[in-house]
Amino acid sequence: MAQIKLDGTSKVFGDITVIPPLDLEIGKGEFVVFVGPSGSGKSTLLRLIAGLEQVSGGRIYIEGRDITTTPCGDRGLAMVFQSYALYPHMTVRQNMAFPLEMAGEAKASINRSIEETAHVLDITRFLDRRPAQLSGGQRQRVAIGRAIVRNPTAFLFDEPLSNLDAALRSSTRLEIMKLHQQLGATMIYVTHDQVEAMTMADRIVVLNHGKIEQVGTPQELYERPANLFVAEFIGAPR
Ligand code: ADP
Ligand code: MG
Repeated sequence: MAQIKLDGTSKVFGDITVIPPLDLEIGKGEFVVFVGPSGSGKSTLLRLIAGLEQVSGGRIYIEGRDITTTPCGDRGLAMVFQSYALYPHMTVRQNMAFPLEMAGEAKASINRSIEETAHVLDITRFLDRRPAQLSGGQRQRVAIGRAIVRNPTAFLFDEPLSNLDAALRSSTRLEIMKLHQQLGATMIYVTHDQVEAMTMADRIVVLNHGKIEQVGTPQELYERPANLFVAEFIGAPR
């Protein structure tokens, strides 16, 4: 069974169809990248899955459960944005604890989750610092840590590296991939960067004007692009 399933899912803003009805299944533990030019609907599609936007049509299922109208916070998904969205007045530890405290989790269990996650992400030595005392890459790791402690069903990343310089981007990219292996968690990752998509994805979903042009492994897209758009966008020889 697909872990995340979109069934005729669509989105209309005013009289503009941003996402025509589309179907997509994502398996448990998959690393799926949504790639496409700016304005192709990547963020909108991710926000529909996250529940930050309501669908205009169709259904969304998580592990067979229809969550189409389930509020964002009850979907068991964690969203990591490009802006780090950390609370500036809280330490790293407090930032990570906050969502768990809101969920009513016990103090001891919160501390244990934070220690474990900090260890995995190698941010233990930053736990008592505030965001302003961290580099961009460290802040991004904390933002990912804050998502991990909630033990989500899946992680949704929207261009999480676009605020980082080239060197940090490639090291953080490797960290996210390592994390994917360690956690075995489903991850959906949005980027407009073909190279990022090709190097990170188990499967790539190519979007163009909200429409899925092709879904396939990086190798499939490279060797057998479905059309000219995919061929040109991925940069495969024709
Ligand atoms: P991407 O993330 O691929 O750059 P988006 O999903 O942000 O694309 O946007 C897809 C299209 O939907 C764009 O044309 C954008 O202008 C439009 N759009 C996104 N959000 C809204 C909104 N809240 N209201 C109206 N139009 C929107
Ligand atoms: Mg976007």
